[in-house]
Amino acid sequence: MDLVISSATASTIERAAIDAVLGPATDGWRGGERTEADHHVARAGQAFRDLRPRLLELLHAVNDAAGWVSPGAVNEISLRTDIAPAEVFSVASFYALFHLAGPDLRQLHVCVDAACRAAGSTDSSLPAGAHASPCLGACERAPVALLIEAGTPAVHSLVENAIPTTIDAVLAGATPIPESAVAASVPQSGSADLVLLRRIGQVDPLSLDDYRAHSGYEALQRAFALGTTATIDEVTAAKLVGRGGAAFPTGRKWAAVAGQPVFPHHLVCNADESEPGTFKDRVVMEGDPFSLIEAMTIAAFATGCAHGWIYLRGEYPRAMATLQAALVAARSAGLLGDDILGSGFSFDIEITRGAGAYICGEETAIFNSIEGYRGEPRNKPPFPVEKGLFNKPTVVNNVETLINVLPILLEGGAAYGARGTEGSAGQKLFCLSGAVRRPGVYEVTYGATLRELIELGGGLVESRSVQAVLLGGAAGSFVGPGSLDMPLTMEATRAAGASLGSGVVCVYDDKVDMVDQVRRIAAFFRNESCGQCVPCRVGTVRQQETLTRIVTGTRPDRSRADELALLSDLGQVMKDASICGLGQTAHNAIDSAIKLGVLS
Ligand code: SF4
Repeated sequence: MDLVISSATASTIERAAIDAVLGPATDGWRGGERTEADHHVARAGQAFRDLRPRLLELLHAVNDAAGWVSPGAVNEISLRTDIAPAEVFSVASFYALFHLAGPDLRQLHVCVDAACRAAGSTDSSLPAGAHASPCLGACERAPVALLIEAGTPAVHSLVENAIPTTIDAVLAGATPIPESAVAASVPQSGSADLVLLRRIGQVDPLSLDDYRAHSGYEALQRAFALGTTATIDEVTAAKLVGRGGAAFPTGRKWAAVAGQPVFPHHLVCNADESEPGTFKDRVVMEGDPFSLIEAMTIAAFATGCAHGWIYLRGEYPRAMATLQAALVAARSAGLLGDDILGSGFSFDIEITRGAGAYICGEETAIFNSIEGYRGEPRNKPPFPVEKGLFNKPTVVNNVETLINVLPILLEGGAAYGARGTEGSAGQKLFCLSGAVRRPGVYEVTYGATLRELIELGGGLVESRSVQAVLLGGAAGSFVGPGSLDMPLTMEATRAAGASLGSGVVCVYDDKVDMVDQVRRIAAFFRNESCGQCVPCRVGTVRQQETLTRIVTGTRPDRSRADELALLSDLGQVMKDASICGLGQTAHNAIDSAIKLGVLS
């Protein structure tokens, strides 16, 4: 790929896909027919720069329509946006869901991580035509795959029971059976004790009337009545912290953005939950989309944002469809747009669809991705509250964090903050998967133990015993059966050298090959490193190589102790010197597995 446009031309389908995003080319400066007027009028500058944030959408459009991003499509996008072909290509090649080597009209992405792997899915025996995929965020239905059928429109569907016979049948053209209802992912559905999940499975996710009949939009009314400062005070009093893993106090983040003198302020909902084993945000978006829209509206009101983005995982087709429909309904009811509920406050939301990059769950990588660049994290400082999306003050919260704002405003911050433990207030959603009878999203008040959560999920299947539990996902750590009575709080897990992370609880019974699981985690980080900084780019490769030597014994001239020491050194360097959380946590699970003795 070059800085100049090659002779490759886009197909009719690709041109139509690009036109559908940008409208037809109107002049020679925008890739259309060159006319006499083009000799006299130059068009460039800001008009073209404004198109850069459309790049991800354009790449999705051609990939969906044609089954790949061809050199001709790269040229056409370049002509239409004035972005050099090499840059278009560099962005396209960053994301796993964009195909660059020949059309693939029926792409099957088979999950080979965590719960799916424990259920038998593996990258070593996939048939031709199937692609090994990192976690697809549907672990409660493991094993799963994602089918993308190119066309206009393209069809994206989750394939459940993705065992070899299903994979073969789908590759041969069979239509997957319809996806399970979202209520099946919430085994507690209907329980009177639920706060965050209480509507899922009980209301029609797309009925605004249903939502409002179940106290929908009462929290927003309360925020409008309180005003911006008092709304933030309620969130602070509730001791709400981010639910994505970093646990930063939400009220402090909101206050920092609200106080910035530079405008506009931006709101980004991080819905790119790609930590292996995590699926709670998907279930919320599919089963209760208006709760996210209402919560984002409150966050925007409190922090002075006029526009919000939902950065949604590209692998979540049903969440995409549900959110799109809910946004339309909210707009037509006057709950988004100008002068919401007569408050004088105006706000709207757009969705940016991710394209298969774990690192885009990192808050500053999201900014680059939305802006049309490779999703590489930025150095901090400056922090997003000062300079975030488009270099403006930005609030970034994930889905679970945001929806907690609704009960906080309905019952008051102090009452909310009184639940849970001293260091962990309120409710937490856990993604329970693996060898339990009823995998799914579970809501518990902070303080419940790991054993209680597993029992809530029906206990282990077939009376098997716990070999290990992955807490917090690939960036988290393994704990053993001796930790079953550990409270699932931030303070207790921290004291045990683990972390709750994004709420992953993947249970492995004594049948699971843990060496294979740990090796997969090492491969995952090697694949997902964005490659921007050396400690992570090289460290994740060396980590995988060293781990492989340890478990296969392929370096008999080196003692196991020496190899373990090298592995530990690599982990420390990645932790100390990597730019972002990916490199800093890439050794956690491997280190914990060694300490647990599951590699012996
Ligand atoms: Fe990229 Fe890894 Fe460095 Fe993060 S730590 S910026 S993922 S190379």
